[in-house]
Amino acid sequence: MTVFKKVRLRLTLLCTGVTALILFLISLAYLLVAESNLKNNQFQSFQDDIKTILGNLESQQVITHDWLAKLEAGNRYLVFLRDNGVSLLYESLNETEDRELLYQSVTAFYEEHKTEEVSSRYASYHTEFTFPDTVPFLSMGKDRYYVSYCYIPKNQGQLEAYILRSLTPVYDQIYRQRFLFCLIDVLAVSLLYCFFRYFVKLMLRPVVESQEKQNLFIAAASHEFRTPLAVIMSCVSAMKEDESRTFDVRPDFYGILENETDRMSRLIDDMLFLTNRQNPNQQLQLKDYELETLLLKCYEAFERMALEKKVAIHIRLPKDPMPPCHCDPERISQLLAILAHNAVSYTDAGGKITFSAWYGNGCHSIVVADTGIGIRDADKKKIFNPFYRVDIARNRKGHFGLGLGIASEIVKAHKGSISVEDTPGGGSTFEVRLPRRGKVLG
Ligand code: ADP
Repeated sequence: MTVFKKVRLRLTLLCTGVTALILFLISLAYLLVAESNLKNNQFQSFQDDIKTILGNLESQQVITHDWLAKLEAGNRYLVFLRDNGVSLLYESLNETEDRELLYQSVTAFYEEHKTEEVSSRYASYHTEFTFPDTVPFLSMGKDRYYVSYCYIPKNQGQLEAYILRSLTPVYDQIYRQRFLFCLIDVLAVSLLYCFFRYFVKLMLRPVVESQEKQNLFIAAASHEFRTPLAVIMSCVSAMKEDESRTFDVRPDFYGILENETDRMSRLIDDMLFLTNRQNPNQQLQLKDYELETLLLKCYEAFERMALEKKVAIHIRLPKDPMPPCHCDPERISQLLAILAHNAVSYTDAGGKITFSAWYGNGCHSIVVADTGIGIRDADKKKIFNPFYRVDIARNRKGHFGLGLGIASEIVKAHKGSISVEDTPGGGSTFEVRLPRRGKVLG
């Protein structure tokens, strides 16, 4: 697994884990509040029902089987009555073996939990009661009851009632709700995992791309170093093998060695420029400077090289002086040298190179146009990538494919833009636009 895959997995799990935890806590808080409300409502309704039942028990002279059957219908209520201390046996239709056991448990429970002596006309005691024979977890809320003890003085005696309401429907609802929430949470966590997986991939893309670019850069740089190193090594071994050679042959080797080490040193300088572009120590030394001066210097520097190649070179400047450009003159000279060097290198004898500059719409424009071999549309964007060369086989010596990469970085640092187009009639035209005062150009 690559480092990025590992990082992606870890970040995805971390984001999903944290979000899932928050989701779980919110769900838990919501469930607790909802369950407590449900229980409160149930208890309230139980108390209201007890009041009604008590009223009925008080008003009835004779407690009928019909009345009890209605009350116990659907297993909603269970009623145990005691008339003057004697249990009134009511055989409900849904009689279970546990009824007697339940009665004994309830009376024992009530005796245990009684807090006040019953003396008033009637008294009730409500609480949540668990049937003692059940295992609370396995019973899942079954066999839990609200229980109320009622005391009703009658003529010369008293009537006592234990009224139980089963909590099974309430707990059924609570467990259904919990299950539903778990299901929703699991679904939400799965969706979050998918989302974060995609999101983290998106976030890491620039890092992956930069890493890939760096790898390509290192591979291309190593490749570029191989050629001069191979030449140096073959020179050294030739010199070692043939030490008897006379001095008039040896200086050839020294010349080659000097050229190749010089080539390597330039390559190292270029690479350092490109790799240090984020370095704050390599910031621009900005000042107001006349672009005309820089262009003329560049023109003069390459005039001889162009003439040697039998390439005509021209410069066209505006009649009125342009406003000074806020730039780093050394870097702009480097940029002009790259464009001029390329123009001369990629233009054959009989061709023409034209430097021109003008000022308009708040920005300086510099154009280097040649009538050379030209650049295919497909390569026009790629040529600004470090080490990219259109045709390596035809490539001129001393060209590493770093020039336009450096040029593009210099322009970016000045918040300007660089573009290439075909020269009408053939060749390439490079245009650099520099804002007068660091305003970003689109
Ligand atoms: P190099 O040092 O190899 O010239 P650059 O980054 O300056 O590297 O240029 C990249 C490639 O773009 C070159 O290898 C060449 O193929 C192409 N190129 C640059 N300038 C010109 C030009 N004026 N005419 C034709 N091709 C050019």
